[in-house]
Amino acid sequence: RNILIGGGTGFIGKNLGELLIANGYNVMNVARMPGTSNISWSKLELSGLPTRTCAVINLAGQQFMDFTKSWTPGFKQNVQNSRIYTTKALAKAINQSKDKPKVFVLVTGVGAYEPSERNKYDESSPTTGIDFFSRLTVEWEKAACVDPPVRLVIIRSGVVLGRWGGMIKNMFVPFYLGFGGRIGSGKQYLPWIHIDDLTGLIKFAVENDNVQGVLNGVSPKVITNEEFTQSFAKALRRPAFLPVPESVLNFLLNSERAMLMTKGQYVIPKRVLEYGFKYRYENIEDACQEFAHLCPKK
Ligand code: NDP
Repeated sequence: RNILIGGGTGFIGKNLGELLIANGYNVMNVARMPGTSNISWSKLELSGLPTRTCAVINLAGQQFMDFTKSWTPGFKQNVQNSRIYTTKALAKAINQSKDKPKVFVLVTGVGAYEPSERNKYDESSPTTGIDFFSRLTVEWEKAACVDPPVRLVIIRSGVVLGRWGGMIKNMFVPFYLGFGGRIGSGKQYLPWIHIDDLTGLIKFAVENDNVQGVLNGVSPKVITNEEFTQSFAKALRRPAFLPVPESVLNFLLNSERAMLMTKGQYVIPKRVLEYGFKYRYENIEDACQEFAHLCPKK
């Protein structure tokens, strides 16, 4: 019962690792830094998968929203390569292994779908490859080329909400200080999933042999940026009257990257519901209540 996680040291990876260990799995990470449960990417290429690996998951990728890094061609290349090369390396190791794992789970993003205030997307909707993130996602998913009988599950995740990582970690202090507000008009959709539901969905994909193909990793309750802003501020008992103009984000982050915050998609997890996955946090109010606390919960 060994599970190998590429990028298992990150926000989603750490939460997933804890869940899997609590359920009796042994977890190894593929990481750039040494560590007791880590193997390096070069070791993976040289020696292949650790013995008796039953599932491989890829969560590796340079963060888009690393505000210390400018949106230069070099950084964009890094954003791209860190996802495509790691996915290719894991797929190759799976295809070359004698004792094959049952499943390869790749987490990509809803950026696969073109941002729109009109269209509604489920897993059968086309990925247009029109903007940077959609093009990246198409290439990234193509890299996950594993031979049968290994099952391939691709989870297109919405923004992952949890106290200690991703968007909430970045927004917590301004909202806590009462400087929160919607982004732009606030009318753009915000496809989201609570961290416990994303890790639960990955575990569900590992454990259920009938699950395969693309899954939209989003809550079934679709919200806008304005609705998120109000729910988060309410859970923190703070006002949120200071909107962030779209032009400011475009200027500070580059409009290509700012798009992740200023635009959105209406995404439905049709196949996830058909498989019978049960969410813990369907409502944004419940999710916000869970992570609206300053210190770690005991
Ligand atoms: P984190 O940034 O927290 O973790 C990602 C991990 O990737 C890091 O721990 C790091 O591991 C590894 N990594 C970073 N840069 C590189 C690089 N240049 N080359 C190889 N490995 C690298 O991300 P999350 O856990 O939040 O996200 C995981 C995946 O899920 C990403 O691909 C992300 O795009 C995707 N996703 C995340 C969402 C979110 O809201 N968080 C939403 C939708 C998709 P180490 O330093 O140990 O090598």
